[in-house]
Amino acid sequence: MKKLTIQGMAKINLGLDVIRRREDGYHEVKMVMQTLNLCDTLTIEKSDTPSITIQVGTAPLPADENNLIYKSANLLMQHCNLSLGVSISLQKEIPIAAGMAGGSTDAAATLLGMNQLFALGLSLEELQKLGVKIGADVPYCLQGGTALSEGIGEILTTLPAAPDCFVVVGKPELSVSTKYVYENLHANSLQYHPDIDGMVVAITNKDLDGITKRMENVLETVTEKEYPVITDIKDLLKEKGAENALMSGSGPTVFGIFTEEKRAREAREALQQSGLVKQSFVTTFSDRTGIVVSKE
Ligand code: ATP
Repeated sequence: MKKLTIQGMAKINLGLDVIRRREDGYHEVKMVMQTLNLCDTLTIEKSDTPSITIQVGTAPLPADENNLIYKSANLLMQHCNLSLGVSISLQKEIPIAAGMAGGSTDAAATLLGMNQLFALGLSLEELQKLGVKIGADVPYCLQGGTALSEGIGEILTTLPAAPDCFVVVGKPELSVSTKYVYENLHANSLQYHPDIDGMVVAITNKDLDGITKRMENVLETVTEKEYPVITDIKDLLKEKGAENALMSGSGPTVFGIFTEEKRAREAREALQQSGLVKQSFVTTFSDRTGIVVSKE
């Protein structure tokens, strides 16, 4: 094989709790992760020289060693003593700096794709051990589906697939830095904690209502307070029939859960017309990621 094309799926957090800020500055989290059928596509091609080249098209991203794709390719090449190189081109669909783990998704797709392209034979666990060096969300992005994420994000428990529904995703014009949000979170004096355990039970029981009524994200206390447009998007989605709506990760992306496709499409239309969002999608939950769509 000389070349493969792989899709890495975006994630949302159906629930996000921060348990505490550790003395070393890291935050201990408890999150329910869910992949969406919304993907970045990476085409990875072998090259003869031991170099890494990245093309990002029109995406406002670095095409050098600062790109998480580059970091992941480099890490894997060093780990496996690869003497060949790669050329990777990215088709970006996942909103950037949006709370959807777009960068971690690309990192994971790079590791999964190169593992296949070079027939490295690394197990998912081995890739996850490497991936966590790139970012705390990378181990989850390597497996995808529905999962409980604890520790700093690296302790994963695979959950049964969440029940089918339609998801409207809306991202306002602004970008939010995850670092900024965590730095401004008063993790040790939060007024409430989401019922993540209850949500896990609801997922196991395929109880969509039990899931949506427990959708909470403590990072909203920072991002939503600063950017009222997040409240406006949530309100509009609920007004248009969402079972519930929530900010994903550190934001500013908001998603709403719908039981009917027609209502979801109408809600997206209303969102677009409202001018509250720059990007929006209607999608569904995905129970997998790292889908190889072509090989040559
Ligand atoms: P998370 O949900 O994990 O907090 P995010 O959605 O908030 O992630 P990303 O889209 O992953 O944020 O991007 C965060 C930063 O990482 C951006 O400012 C971007 O410049 C940088 N970055 C490096 N490589 C990539 C990549 N391949 N895709 C997206 N961002 C990248």
